[in-house]
Amino acid sequence: MNKIPRLNFAHLPTPIEELPRLTEHLNGPKILIKRDDQTGLAFGGNKTRKLEFLVAEAREQGAKTLITGGALQSNHCRQTAAAAARFGFDCTLVLNGEMPEQPSANLLLDQMFGAEIVTVTDRADRDQALQETFQKAVAAGKKPYLVTYGGSSPTGALGYAFAMKEFMEQNIHADWILFGTSSGGTHAGLVLGQRVFGYKGKVLGISIDEPEEWFKTRVSDLASDASERVGERIEFTPAEVFANADYCKPGYGVLTDAEREAVRLFAKHEGLLLDPVYTGRAAAGMIDLIRKGFFKKEETVLFWHTGGTTALFAEKYSAALL
Ligand SMILES: *Cc1c(COP(=O)(O)O)cnc(C)c1O
Repeated sequence: MNKIPRLNFAHLPTPIEELPRLTEHLNGPKILIKRDDQTGLAFGGNKTRKLEFLVAEAREQGAKTLITGGALQSNHCRQTAAAAARFGFDCTLVLNGEMPEQPSANLLLDQMFGAEIVTVTDRADRDQALQETFQKAVAAGKKPYLVTYGGSSPTGALGYAFAMKEFMEQNIHADWILFGTSSGGTHAGLVLGQRVFGYKGKVLGISIDEPEEWFKTRVSDLASDASERVGERIEFTPAEVFANADYCKPGYGVLTDAEREAVRLFAKHEGLLLDPVYTGRAAAGMIDLIRKGFFKKEETVLFWHTGGTTALFAEKYSAALL
């Protein structure tokens, strides 16, 4: 297990805090938060843990350029650009969306880190643009390493298998672990780590954008593939993966009253910042489940904060928050 290439730059272990005022306000189970918004690397977030393994792999392969893609306000792209700057890679980002005159938040930071930015208007064209960008970089001798969307390759998922190990070593009881799930790498890592390190509670991803069945297949496949890197292959089945897709219907990055309320409750009752797209939606799901009596009052729910708070300052989101 110690031979997996990894660069240690994350600020670990991230703290676990109690949220007594939110717990009281919701009159629900005990709520804890694991602060992966504090992992370091350009304002932190869940991509830091994945990039420790991904950048190490890129280095091992002799790569000189990191290439990845995402939405215009992608946290993953911001953190990949920062990692590239820190470890001396060039970086190209393929982003879908309309380039604003005045870039804000993550898009502004991408540029500060010196990333080259390629934009496509429609998300449907992003894959092809990413492949073309990659092929061009190969032809130009730039030795590119393709970072999967969201860093969710088997290598990237290892970040969250070891995050589960870290959580177990913190010796804090939680019956449930809840978090926002989207490209599935965080989810797969936690599911793998649960098995390898013996977490007895339940791991429940709140879907940001994809249907439940998609996660069951994607996460079990990814966890199985990632398992080969920590030892013998473990065959995970879709039935062992839990995802709730009740809160993603408005679409990716669409703020409704539910996300607004979640962001405000965490801010007002705990002085804590969520992000509009991921943790805002995941927390909205958690709050709704608490109100419906889904958890027992004597249970403990750990909300795993996955970062993204820089997006609060993206023009399109800040305008929709109040
Ligand atoms: C990328 C991201 C997620 C989703 O993680 P996946 O591993 O892609 O499922 C959740 N929260 C934030 C803030 C993110 O940036």
